[in-house]
Amino acid sequence: MQFVVLTLFPELIQAFWDNGILRRAIAGGAITTEAIAIRDHAAGRHRVTDDRPYGGGCGMVMKPEPLAGALRAARVKAPEALTVLLSPQGAPFDQDMAGRLAQQAGLILVCGRYEGIDERISEQFIELELSIGDVVLTGGEVAAMAVMDAVTRLLPGVLGNEVSAEQDSFRHQRLDHAHYTRPPVFEGREVPEVLLSGHHDRIARWRQADALWRTLVKRPDLLYKGPPSDEETALLGAWYREIQRIIRARGGGGLDTPPGGG
Ligand code: SAM
Repeated sequence: MQFVVLTLFPELIQAFWDNGILRRAIAGGAITTEAIAIRDHAAGRHRVTDDRPYGGGCGMVMKPEPLAGALRAARVKAPEALTVLLSPQGAPFDQDMAGRLAQQAGLILVCGRYEGIDERISEQFIELELSIGDVVLTGGEVAAMAVMDAVTRLLPGVLGNEVSAEQDSFRHQRLDHAHYTRPPVFEGREVPEVLLSGHHDRIARWRQADALWRTLVKRPDLLYKGPPSDEETALLGAWYREIQRIIRARGGGGLDTPPGGG
């Protein structure tokens, strides 16, 4: 996977590549990286990259000429790559999208600043706009790092253990189960006994149930996107019946009757 990042702050991106899993992925040959300084493609002694917006108003806009020059240079370096603009107006970047992007030969990631880039650059060059959430960042660099991080960990051989990505939250429209490490008791809180049992089947069942419960409580929307399996349906049914028993035991009716009789 080839990452080419167009930015006004190449040193920010370089620091990200110099650490952690990205550094390992570069060393192992899973990814190649290159930052293109948009300013290097700006004309004149001052290499100006922004200008006032047509129509007036506050803020500055990134000029088209330096971006076009930087994009053409990027396409020479990565002719097979998909050209992506980081933008709050883009498609939501989620785990499914990360999986699809991991299939690409490369990504050219364009980081905006100020009020954003001249619209004609989007029309002419951009193949996909991506947003990391309904929030406005100062620049696209942090968003580009999020994209590179999430995509890189899905590439074959990048994570030490392939199972880790397989179990991650959202992989199968479920949140991940809880994790514990030593010591077995921390400030009075114990690790669930089953995890110390060494019984692989029981541990697998506990993890499946814990992941399902977390998904139900924190992100029930995922259970509509990835409907429950037969085993999960049995668990949900058992919880449902237990909840009904608890409600009845306090003197009300079933789930159809509000507590106190309604
Ligand atoms: N005026 C723009 C708007 O409201 O749509 C916001 C511009 S923002 C201050 C500057 C740059 O940060 C954008 O061009 C984009 O590259 C990046 N950016 C901001 N929020 C983002 C988000 N949620 N996802 C991805 N990139 C974002």
